[in-house]
Amino acid sequence: MNLQISLIQQIDVLLPQTQCGLCGHRDGCLPYAKSIAEGEAANKCIPGGQPVADALAHLLNREKLIAEQSVWPIQADGRPQRMKAIIREDECIGCTKCISACPVDAIIGSGKLMHTILTDLCTGCELCIPPCPVDCIDLIEDIRSIPTENIRIAEENDLRNRYYAHIQREEKRQINRKGPVVRAAIDSELFSQMTQENKALPSIEMLQKSETISSPIDAKTTIELAKLRTQIKKLEKQLSVRTDDKKQQQLHDLQLQLSVLQDESL
Ligand code: SF4
Ligand code: SF4
Ligand code: SF4
Repeated sequence: MNLQISLIQQIDVLLPQTQCGLCGHRDGCLPYAKSIAEGEAANKCIPGGQPVADALAHLLNREKLIAEQSVWPIQADGRPQRMKAIIREDECIGCTKCISACPVDAIIGSGKLMHTILTDLCTGCELCIPPCPVDCIDLIEDIRSIPTENIRIAEENDLRNRYYAHIQREEKRQINRKGPVVRAAIDSELFSQMTQENKALPSIEMLQKSETISSPIDAKTTIELAKLRTQIKKLEKQLSVRTDDKKQQQLHDLQLQLSVLQDESL
């Protein structure tokens, strides 16, 4: 294994594997590890907090830096408060957008059915919140006790493996994508290179992308989308003044139709 790859792996081992992108690296911990190896400051991992910034400074023999601050309070282990996402299930329209946004595959459900988050796996990375069209995902404090060092490392290894499996699945889906696209495509090449160097990681095979050109949305679909949006706005306005179960159900159905039509027109 070449020295640079070995250093990237040693850095990656110290990162929390939340894959949240808060360090400024949209594709998660490994791209940040690579960038640190190339000279970027090692204090930008927000979920890792001061313990991770210090461990990286020690590994790299660099000056210790103050870790970038989280919006959450600091726990007894010096890391920011762990969070979890939960879905308000009675409001979920089953659009599936949150599923492909979750880097560690912690959400289950299928089209038009209620979705649920497997809370033991959820890292609170928040990536599922922006794509949800009905804003029915909340973040709550993770009230479980702070894990021991060994448990945390085992959890991080599991999250890393889950992310690699997620990347491979997304890579395959891009060939013939039917579901919604909710985040920019992950740059899989670096991950694929790592799996070639380290056989313990789930392998990532780069697939040849088809040369399909997406067709622009046709006029009929554009009109249909505009109609649905107008109806939704009207109902939302009415419901903000007075609650009405029948109208709430109509709103729910229209939001689902809009979501399905948007996905079909991608
Ligand atoms: S856990 Fe830290 S290193 Fe990993 S993506 Fe989030 S901020 Fe970046
Ligand atoms: S369920 Fe949401 S908050 Fe939890 S890990 Fe998945 S994307 Fe992140
Ligand atoms: S994105 Fe929101 S509405 Fe869609 S399936 Fe997930 S929780 Fe339900």
